[in-house]
Amino acid sequence: MWIYLNDRFVPEEQALVSVFDHGFLYGDGVYETIRSYGARIFMRDQHITRLYRSAEAIGLAIPIPRKSWPDLLHDAMTRNDVGDDRRDAYLRITITRGAGQIGLDPALCPTPTVVIMTKPLVPPAPALYEQGVALVIAQTRRNLPSALSPHIKATNFLNNILAKREAIAARVFDSVLLNWEGHVTECTISNLFFVTSGRLRTPSVACGILDGITREIVMQLARDEGIPVEEGRFTAADLSQADECFLTNTSMEIMPAVSIDRKAIGSGTPGPVTQRLRALFALHRGRFLE
Ligand code: PLP
Repeated sequence: MWIYLNDRFVPEEQALVSVFDHGFLYGDGVYETIRSYGARIFMRDQHITRLYRSAEAIGLAIPIPRKSWPDLLHDAMTRNDVGDDRRDAYLRITITRGAGQIGLDPALCPTPTVVIMTKPLVPPAPALYEQGVALVIAQTRRNLPSALSPHIKATNFLNNILAKREAIAARVFDSVLLNWEGHVTECTISNLFFVTSGRLRTPSVACGILDGITREIVMQLARDEGIPVEEGRFTAADLSQADECFLTNTSMEIMPAVSIDRKAIGSGTPGPVTQRLRALFALHRGRFLE
């Protein structure tokens, strides 16, 4: 596999980063996870915009002009034989503060580290979409990267990893993280939606979630369809009393969730609003490709 590291593509064996990199020492960095359908990248500009926004929020200047990203991403796919008629691509951009002496002052790191990785996208098994997945409420709380910018896509992922460990221990698909106030936020790598009496509900960005790009599209599709959408503060009880629930992210799209803490959500099968939104997503996603 070819990896883009700083200013060139290198074979993966040579894609090495310093032990002084503050991404390694402190999780000091930002990232994006992107996908293609065939050769066309999904919501490319929105992902790049979020990358710059996250970087700006942590005071990190990305050393690559914005206009270079489309070519760089396509180069990464072509070199690795993905993002073509045969294989959709998964792409990950990571930008860390870079290497510097030990200490938290960002001024210690003059040059950010930039990495682009790509590989074939492996979607979840069709059976999961048909049956829906199980969730638990994690004991681990979602950390809020910053009260000023609650939605930084930061490489500092320890709480999400601890919540994922809880899901693995419980033998379920994923965990739902609550925030410091006990409100529902999101799952470890996806946003969370639920349906109550025909209303589509999702935690607001102020709860400390990532403002997912798929989440935006799902809200837009729902509104276009006349489904009322509510962003707000919700409790675990609101979630467990819901009629339907689903998760969204770029690589998974819309994944139905059918139980929480071993208790069925609604009928315990993927519900009609979820199915409708899945169909609409499949119908309209071509509009969101470059
Ligand atoms: N929430 C978290 C914590 C994530 O890591 C992700 C995606 O990686 C999402 C939500 C979904 O975001 P998107 O729809 O932009 O992929």
